[in-house]
Amino acid sequence: MQAAQLYGKEDLRVVDIPKPQITADEILLKIKASAICGTDVRMLKNGHKNASESNPLTIGHEISGEISEVGANVTAYKTGDRVAVAPNLGCGVCDLCVSGNTHMCSQSEALGVTIPGAFAEFMVIPEKAVRQGNICIIGDNTSFEEAALAEPFSCVYNAFELYGVNPGDSVVIIGSGPIGLMHAKLAKMAGAGKVIINDLNPDRLAECRAIDSSFITMDGDNFEENLRMETGGKGADVVITACPAPSAQQSALRIAAVFGRICFFGGLPHGKSEVALDTNEIHYKQLTITGMTRQSLAQFRKTLSLVEKNLVSVNDLITTKSPLRDLEAAIIRSAKGEGLKNMIVFYDT
Ligand SMILES: [Zn+2]
Ligand SMILES: [Zn+2]
Repeated sequence: MQAAQLYGKEDLRVVDIPKPQITADEILLKIKASAICGTDVRMLKNGHKNASESNPLTIGHEISGEISEVGANVTAYKTGDRVAVAPNLGCGVCDLCVSGNTHMCSQSEALGVTIPGAFAEFMVIPEKAVRQGNICIIGDNTSFEEAALAEPFSCVYNAFELYGVNPGDSVVIIGSGPIGLMHAKLAKMAGAGKVIINDLNPDRLAECRAIDSSFITMDGDNFEENLRMETGGKGADVVITACPAPSAQQSALRIAAVFGRICFFGGLPHGKSEVALDTNEIHYKQLTITGMTRQSLAQFRKTLSLVEKNLVSVNDLITTKSPLRDLEAAIIRSAKGEGLKNMIVFYDT
């Protein structure tokens, strides 16, 4: 079968490898669609400790497909099931795993990051993932492309549960990539009064308005002043930094309203994460600041149900669909910020 394997820094090869065999406790998934994200961009650019010349790694962690083979001991799934697969697995027995937070386990592994992933015709779903519930059967109303987007969307939903949006809130998202737009869509679904997206790139802001004309967009010019005017001098009830910029975190504190909630969603590059913040903004405005990483399996399933029920659409975030052989070019497009979600599909488009 064909698989895209990372051999090291800037060394991704689409190669022919044997179709994997499963044990009695595993499942073989025929991949239908898998999406590219920032993690893939970083793994290609920097290489990864789990990928080497002697031990290349099949990447791809935003996964959907059809179950092709089921191990003899597996009872919860059957051949032909259409599924999305959450990539993070825990040890299953530590306190965090038992509390439903397998994604925060200190022994956590991830499909497509530490073990083989979904930029391949087939992948093995390991026993732990089968038992922990990482495989989620999707509804008839959900396409494979939408299912693959459950991974990033549920990261966003994880943050959304933490910051909370109340009806009428002013919500500001700094960063207009696919992640920023997912926050914007959830905020709108939750009844935000104003959803404001800030970005330096005017083309991206135009794309945001094309996706939903109710989104208010602001570029870099006088952003903080314009935001104050837009919110009647109060500032934003919720601010999300959906970009890897220290300056966005500093700005978030200044533009938050009294009792504002802030989410530092985008991580910062290594060496840039010590940021000078005016902590008196936190003190005198009684702000709440949260971080987040990955998603619980409950959040993964929740976002799939939102898509299945048409409460929120992610289809308009998909810019390109390419065959596996074009993966590297698609990752490079993602790295340049061209389009929103670039997707690899395993059928004719
Ligand atoms: Zn991802
Ligand atoms: Zn654990």
